[in-house]
Amino acid sequence: MSSAGIYIHIPFCRSRCSYCDFATGIYEGTLAERYVQALVKEVLNWQDIEHPAAIDTIYFGGGTPSLLSASQIEAILVAIHTRFVVTESDVEVTMEMNPGTVTPALLGEFQRLGINRASFGAQTFDDRELARLGRSHTAQDTRQTFRYLRDAGFSNVSFDLIAGLPGQTLDGWERNLDESLALRPEHLSFYLLEVHEGTPLAEHIRRGMQPQPDDDLAAQMYELMLDRAGSAGYEHYEISNLCLPGFESRHNTKYWMGAPYYGFGCSAHSYDGNLRRWSNERDVARYVDLIQRDASPVVERIELSQHQARAEALFLGLRMMQGVDLRQHHLQFGADVRESHEAELARFSDAGLIEYDGDLIKLTRSGTLLSNEVFSAFV
Ligand code: SF4
Repeated sequence: MSSAGIYIHIPFCRSRCSYCDFATGIYEGTLAERYVQALVKEVLNWQDIEHPAAIDTIYFGGGTPSLLSASQIEAILVAIHTRFVVTESDVEVTMEMNPGTVTPALLGEFQRLGINRASFGAQTFDDRELARLGRSHTAQDTRQTFRYLRDAGFSNVSFDLIAGLPGQTLDGWERNLDESLALRPEHLSFYLLEVHEGTPLAEHIRRGMQPQPDDDLAAQMYELMLDRAGSAGYEHYEISNLCLPGFESRHNTKYWMGAPYYGFGCSAHSYDGNLRRWSNERDVARYVDLIQRDASPVVERIELSQHQARAEALFLGLRMMQGVDLRQHHLQFGADVRESHEAELARFSDAGLIEYDGDLIKLTRSGTLLSNEVFSAFV
């Protein structure tokens, strides 16, 4: 069995961004402490799989995990090392951090605890865009926190950038790219803004207080990003992710390659690497209550059919620019995609969305922009 990843969800933020629909709320010390205690208990009592795989990646996501204290992070890590076999010599431990939420001293503590990768929510270097998104930091905070990270010894840092913001221009996006690439983080994650119903941003757009995001412009931003980052030595290894050679996110790659991962905390998802998926209660207070009553926090369990597992392996695998090996896929699932989806594959190939390389099938650059159309053919 391949090694597994652990995902820890920390559902607290300093303030709420206007576009956010994640399971997260405003940080409050007492609730955060109760939540960490519940998390530790969930990890220690976890029995969803009889023989879990060894762990070689741990990911603190959120929310803003860097709002927790070093002792709270330490308590969670100790629980993980108590309950699981962790590949000590080579474990990737990522923490999502937001600019302005960490001090040099705290970063030093995180390093001491073994956090060796920072995923950093820069988003944009334009203060007006940050304000429109309701982000609680400025571009100066991003620059300063990045310096703190380097000074503390973090040599594997990822930037999150968002494109397609209301009112954002191609020139503005280019300045963002220039500044990001000049700082030379090891990894870049790129998101197109999605407007989710029920968020303040959706309401602002509906009332005409902010312009509609422009999809065509966002596509141009995506292309510009690939060109500029490519020229600067970054490899485009997944639809939304680029990195300097050797700095792929090992944890996130598990999601795309069908490796097992075990999620803890409210709204966390898990996968056994075969046919079982399950997910936890989304609400923080209800999650804590369930754990305190020794009840299971799992609210949904899905048993995949062979057909679903095969489709997932295809459309998740196609997110990787290296593509999917169809011969390997045939051996694993006993069905040849070239026969079962002959018409769709011919259509996508004629439209220039996919290409073949021996037994490999890959998205082209145009295919990455229309990936949902390609994926829907396999579902
Ligand atoms: S920092 Fe991230 S998780 Fe927190 S409110 Fe903003 S978008 Fe949501």
